[in-house]
Amino acid sequence: LFSLLIVCSMEAQKKAHLDKSKPINERVELLLKEMTLEEKVGQMNQYNGFWDVTGPAPKGGSAELKYEHLRKGWVGSMLTVRGVKEVRAVQKIAVEETRLGIPLIIGFDVIHGYKTLSPIPLAEAASWDLEAIQKSAAIAADEASASGINWTFGPNMDISQDARWGRVMEGAGEDPYLGSKVAVARVKGFQGKDLAATNTIAACAKHFAAYGFAESGRDYNTVDMSNSKLFNSVLPPFHAAVDAGVRTLMNSFNILNGVPATGNVFLQRDILKGKWGFDGFVVSDWASIREMIPHGFAKDGNEAALKAVVAGSDMDMESHLYIKELVKLVESGKVKESLVDDAVRRILKVKFELGLFDDPYKYCDEKREKNVIGNKANHEGVLDMAKKSIVLLKNDKNLLPLKKSGQKIALIGALANDKNSPLGSWRIAAEDNTAVSVLEGMQQYKDNQLTFEKGAELVISKQAFKDELVFNTTDKSGFEAAKKVAKNADVVVMVLGEIGFQSGEGRSRTNLDLPGLQQELLEGIYKVNPNVVLVLNNGRPLALPWAAEHIPAIVEAWHLGTQAGNAVAQVLYGDYNPSGKLPMSFPRNVGQVPIYYNNYNTGRPNNSDTNVFWSHYMDSEKTPLYPFGFGLSYTTFDYKNLKINKAAFAKGDPVVVSVDITNSGNYDGKEVAQLYIQDVAASLARPVKELKGFELVSLKKGETKTVQFALTEKELGFYDNDGNYLVEPGTFKVMVGGSSDKSLESSFELK
Ligand code: BGC
Repeated sequence: LFSLLIVCSMEAQKKAHLDKSKPINERVELLLKEMTLEEKVGQMNQYNGFWDVTGPAPKGGSAELKYEHLRKGWVGSMLTVRGVKEVRAVQKIAVEETRLGIPLIIGFDVIHGYKTLSPIPLAEAASWDLEAIQKSAAIAADEASASGINWTFGPNMDISQDARWGRVMEGAGEDPYLGSKVAVARVKGFQGKDLAATNTIAACAKHFAAYGFAESGRDYNTVDMSNSKLFNSVLPPFHAAVDAGVRTLMNSFNILNGVPATGNVFLQRDILKGKWGFDGFVVSDWASIREMIPHGFAKDGNEAALKAVVAGSDMDMESHLYIKELVKLVESGKVKESLVDDAVRRILKVKFELGLFDDPYKYCDEKREKNVIGNKANHEGVLDMAKKSIVLLKNDKNLLPLKKSGQKIALIGALANDKNSPLGSWRIAAEDNTAVSVLEGMQQYKDNQLTFEKGAELVISKQAFKDELVFNTTDKSGFEAAKKVAKNADVVVMVLGEIGFQSGEGRSRTNLDLPGLQQELLEGIYKVNPNVVLVLNNGRPLALPWAAEHIPAIVEAWHLGTQAGNAVAQVLYGDYNPSGKLPMSFPRNVGQVPIYYNNYNTGRPNNSDTNVFWSHYMDSEKTPLYPFGFGLSYTTFDYKNLKINKAAFAKGDPVVVSVDITNSGNYDGKEVAQLYIQDVAASLARPVKELKGFELVSLKKGETKTVQFALTEKELGFYDNDGNYLVEPGTFKVMVGGSSDKSLESSFELK
């Protein structure tokens, strides 16, 4: 009887962490106490979905091994398992077959929607509409959680100034201020107010850090940068996300100043977990722990695991090195068990917060899965986001909006009836060909005569996950038919650009042009009918100087997701007045890259009027084709009366800037008013301008509104090379306008 009692009380102790009335930290400690070293390391191990998880146990190969590990409680998380049936199957093994029954946390790349897709993240950032962006992430969380997923590997908050890098489509562009605001909106959207609710998921700020500065825009390439640049340009969105309560971070593949991010003590321990006090966990990027061997930073798997855990990488995504090496490393005394405990605490904490211990199957609700995924409200939500993401780049002859009736419209370009490409990159759960094409969208407007011609095939061989897409560069047999319809039309709409999988991971480009025969087609059509509206589909800034000069109307329509075609049609026909502004500078040519608005003054004059050389190119303008913050509307906005509440401020006084904006055109519309500052002389040179505030203002035609911005120490300071935040006295220039290159100016003194 006595021994039975002991066993029973041991069993009760094992389950003490399940007591919901206890605070989470206490529950974590109770569970940690029960765990063997193997089980702890197991929590730090993440595997990809590896066999038909709903079928019989796999035989042979790595699948069998992974399955065994899962049953032993040596797997803490799985990724890319999806759908309630699959998630339930793996969760059941973790919860019912392992000694402690610790639930898995199921991760997935929910990057811009789950099945019902929003625009690519770069496009969403072009809306500058934080409420809409938050809502879009909430829709994604709603669908993903209904599919059994409880953790997304997003948002991506890699600032990048390099359009060659394919992953710019995943971020919010080049600016750390806008990037921080968007990052926070997305984190809030995914995580909601209550992480334990069934329709919210844990977010993951990635990739920590500096991944967007890969040399020459080639994915995974090395990054060398000053600490000041790191602190001022790269880290702010991460810091903002941590302050907003993001529960996880993912580190990055790149080497930063000689040290891979995955093994980077400075980034992960000193800054993230030290200075910022981050209490969630860090997951490695896919096999990035193992990649430290070819990086030349670890001689073998054992050393890679050692360096990663010391640096604060808490979970190993698919390197299989923690599970192989960590127990040995602890037993040999090379790694303190307290480091393992720290990682496991963080991971368990997030699992508790998600409510997984209280109900491991809470995300496994078939009824919810059926009702939520692809429902009407979600389609309406992503359509709204898609319209808000569109940027009007040019509208010279007032070709836009199109008249709603009595017009002959020629629609040209392979992308115009593509139902796949608008879905963009990173959409693992969405089925192919589920986007509304531009053709379908325009067909809704029935009172015009619409004729579609492809003109030319774009891609000959489409292999979604291969870099090497084969573009059509020879077959022009469709040109004549396209020219014929163009000639007969009042207006020609051409949908040209990149296909959805030309951007994203591993998809860097050295050209920023229109691939295949598209440029030739554009010029050919323009010759027979110059009334061309160019609708761009792309996952990065493109360099299109010829189009910018000749084509009268240009609409930046990115890859807008499931409702793409409807959004484009509604904008073209004026049922929605575009208000997007570019979140990244568009270059004139690749040679200008990296090109960004918050650059430094070279010290040289701006033109050749003096007898010294000036900083320029001999063969190109140095300005961008379209600057950061630029975007037109069907109406016009005038800025007047820029005022600052005082001429001089003591440190800590709020600076209040106001400006009057008038809708001076013929349509109701929305304007993104932008405020930039320059710290004119400081202990470290500061950029010529930096975005420090923006407001999305709705104005009826003829209406004027006064818009106010407040500047506090948070906006006025900068980081030095040691990471100290400095707010220095002196003159500050203030610039307010509708783009980074056009603004009213004033200044104030900070005492
Ligand atoms: C990417 C991550 C992604 C992970 C899991 C990696 O290759 O860099 O952004 O979350 O794969 O799919």
